[in-house]
Amino acid sequence: MKIHEYQARGILSEYGVPIPRFEVVDDPGDARRVAEEIGRMVVVKAQVHVGGRGKAGGVKLAKTPDEAEKHATAILGMDIKGLTVERVMVADAVDIESEYYVGIVVDRATKRPVYMVSAAGGVDIEEVAATTPERIHKHPVDPDKGLSTAEAQELAAKLDTRPHVVRDIAVVVEKLYDAFTGSDASLAEINPLVVTPDEQVWAIDAKINIDDNALFRHPDIEAMRDPSGETDDLRRAREMGLSYVKLEGDVGCIVNGAGLAMTTMDVIKYYGGEPANFLDIGGSSSPEKMQTAIDIITSDPNVKSILINIFGGITRCDDVARGLVAALKERSVGLPLVVRLTGTNAEEAGQILAEHEMKSAETMDEAVEKVVELARRQA
Ligand code: GDP
Ligand code: MN
Repeated sequence: MKIHEYQARGILSEYGVPIPRFEVVDDPGDARRVAEEIGRMVVVKAQVHVGGRGKAGGVKLAKTPDEAEKHATAILGMDIKGLTVERVMVADAVDIESEYYVGIVVDRATKRPVYMVSAAGGVDIEEVAATTPERIHKHPVDPDKGLSTAEAQELAAKLDTRPHVVRDIAVVVEKLYDAFTGSDASLAEINPLVVTPDEQVWAIDAKINIDDNALFRHPDIEAMRDPSGETDDLRRAREMGLSYVKLEGDVGCIVNGAGLAMTTMDVIKYYGGEPANFLDIGGSSSPEKMQTAIDIITSDPNVKSILINIFGGITRCDDVARGLVAALKERSVGLPLVVRLTGTNAEEAGQILAEHEMKSAETMDEAVEKVVELARRQA
């Protein structure tokens, strides 16, 4: 889950990372008030779930409260990479002498958190990685031991040479790691971490992504969720416990289990079709889940036919059939539907379907071939 810069700043400052004073507002008049309270140069920053806000015109320095109000007026409502700015941060601005990058990601290849630091901070770090990868220093961290003070100092020494600046950066490096593990993040970065002309160290941007699988133990972070960064169908799928990924094709799929879902997409492609989505209804099959799944899929205007492919194990086919019948009673789908149910209680499922003039395909191949053909005919 993504959180906003101001929320990430909040987490980092709890862990002791030095963060300039800030407030979040949704009104230009409030931006002026905060600028007045700060009483110095401020920076007005769009709060949206994308990077590169500076380049897009979403980060502006203001010398006076007047200017802060003007910038807030311009930035609020602005569209940045398809997202509308609903709130801005007004923060105490710092003078910048150097801009550094420090960040941690979970690296799937080494199965460890990898620390990355670069003296080429402030700019797009993906670009640095692509053009001058030697300017990024990587350091895998042993998750059992954690990050030692010595490791933090070594990383800090890649960024600066002045002993007390290195010491202050090392403190940030350690605290960022604490925040990363403490919040079960999959990514935590400060870009830029700046040194001022009088050699103070400040984190002036912050980004944290939280591992969705760990959110249950962070209700405070779960409460930070901003649905404006999430589409309606994604939100409904998440709330119902479905894993849903929208794709570009026209064959909607409702499947149980991630493995079967992947296989189904492969077989659809094999028969010359294109899946419209990945949708795993998971291990249990309440009628509500089936209804939500059908709603989500039929709300995608690209979908031309729907395949329901269930391999009953813990999931009982009769439950799925009942859910399907209930779902169809509620709404007319208006699209051709192909069902294939096999496994636990498949016979009962067949009876339920038959009572409603439906029939399960015998095999996955038969079902997929048919659903692809139906999509083609509708197109
Ligand atoms: P991003 O573009 O979304 O990554 O937003 P950042 O918060 O990183 O801001 C972009 C750039 O604006 C930074 O790299 C700085 O150069 C500049 N900037 C942001 N905050 C300040 C500040 O407090 N003082 C100064 N002088 N520049 C700032
Ligand atoms: Mn940044």
